[in-house]
Amino acid sequence: MARKIGSRYTAHQIIGRGSAGTVWLGDGPEGPVAIKLLREDLAADQELVGRFVQERAALLCLDHPHVVGVRDLVVDGNDLALVMDLVRGTDLRTRLERERRLAPEAAVAIAADVADGLAAAHKAGVVHRDVKPENVLLDMQGPLGPGGAHPALLTDFGIARLVDTPRHTRATKVIGTPDYLAPEIIEGLPPRASVDVYALATVLYEMLAGFTPFGGGHPGAVLRRHVTEAVAPLPGIPDELWQLLLQCLAKAPASRLRAPELAARLREILPGLAGHPPLDIDEPDGDQAAEEGEETGTGPYASGAAGSGSAPYDEALYPPVAPGGSRPRGAVPLVHGSAAPDSNRETHTSMRVPGPDELAGGAHGTARAPRAAGEPRAGSARHREAVRRRRVKLGLATAAVVAAAGLGGWFASQHGDSGDARPDVRHSDAATPHPAP
Ligand code: ADP
Ligand code: MG
Repeated sequence: MARKIGSRYTAHQIIGRGSAGTVWLGDGPEGPVAIKLLREDLAADQELVGRFVQERAALLCLDHPHVVGVRDLVVDGNDLALVMDLVRGTDLRTRLERERRLAPEAAVAIAADVADGLAAAHKAGVVHRDVKPENVLLDMQGPLGPGGAHPALLTDFGIARLVDTPRHTRATKVIGTPDYLAPEIIEGLPPRASVDVYALATVLYEMLAGFTPFGGGHPGAVLRRHVTEAVAPLPGIPDELWQLLLQCLAKAPASRLRAPELAARLREILPGLAGHPPLDIDEPDGDQAAEEGEETGTGPYASGAAGSGSAPYDEALYPPVAPGGSRPRGAVPLVHGSAAPDSNRETHTSMRVPGPDELAGGAHGTARAPRAAGEPRAGSARHREAVRRRRVKLGLATAAVVAAAGLGGWFASQHGDSGDARPDVRHSDAATPHPAP
């Protein structure tokens, strides 16, 4: 059923549903468009509408082939709508659900496109803050690039940040995923451009491996891994690509490449990846559920848990890893991987705060790690007893405090910058002010 949006646009049919609202196929004076109609409760929030309109200039001026263009913001009665370029295709999440792993050439081509889009955004002073496969659209009508990849476009600039206040989160719902959150956000630092690079590197890892580097299990456990764990190596990955991933997944924001450098490096290594098949990596094994870290003795509360190749920015938090100290973590399923696809694809920002017992770990976690010979099978009586003893030894309280501090800082940061009109960008040449709307 057609629906008028302002005086210039008509929405015809729903083509997607997201956490912030529904996306409609529509048309306007210049032809077909995609119209994101914000959820009623969001549209009814005066403060949010105010900020939405404030952001208008930043969103409208982002004009780049790898960014889904925002053409208009419509505030009309109870409707708040974002009019965007229509991308005819699918999102990267849908493609990953279908194919699980992409050939390195296609994965790198997609990541390079997104890095280009991010570079343009960062230059314009905009940090995306919610880079994840759901927000990468693949333009099936665009020309096929390396590895048969369609052009990739980044979408949802600014929206996540606006919607993303505790008031708008649904306390009862455990979210989509904190899989893409940079460690510094978890620790309460303001999100700068480097958080997008970290998130994009996570997406690239996921395209190659079929799972994210730190996902799986309880959100509190995922947050903890971001801050303390090393990235598990991917068998068979070309070394240049691996080094690039490690550099962008560095715990220290300053050690990461910037988006333009990342785009350039990805395009440099693309030709060498031609014909490389998707990586052959073990599927997560449901039988081998174990409490990683605690289970293997390489977790944050054991010795040295820093990322190999990830430069520590705080030696106390990220002690250098001893040679051989990092271990392959094995396949870790996506948070939503084992459940039905998350139809409304909430962003990480609607995560509820877990209780201290949940934060402490294992009982609720489903993270997989390889089970050593002789180690009790997860869930067995022997396993439960072993876990209980280990827990006592490690000290539940420590884990809870560390994780709660991370979550607290993260929520504080979400809260703290929600009123800013401009995000923070660390490139010195990037903070070009925008004209007032
Ligand atoms: P949210 O971020 O609020 O969760 P999305 O922006 O991800 O919502 O939109 C939900 C779905 O709508 C996407 O997965 C995609 O399929 C579709 N969609 C979003 N924007 C566009 C667009 N510009 N063109 C075509 N389809 C789109
Ligand atoms: Mg989205």
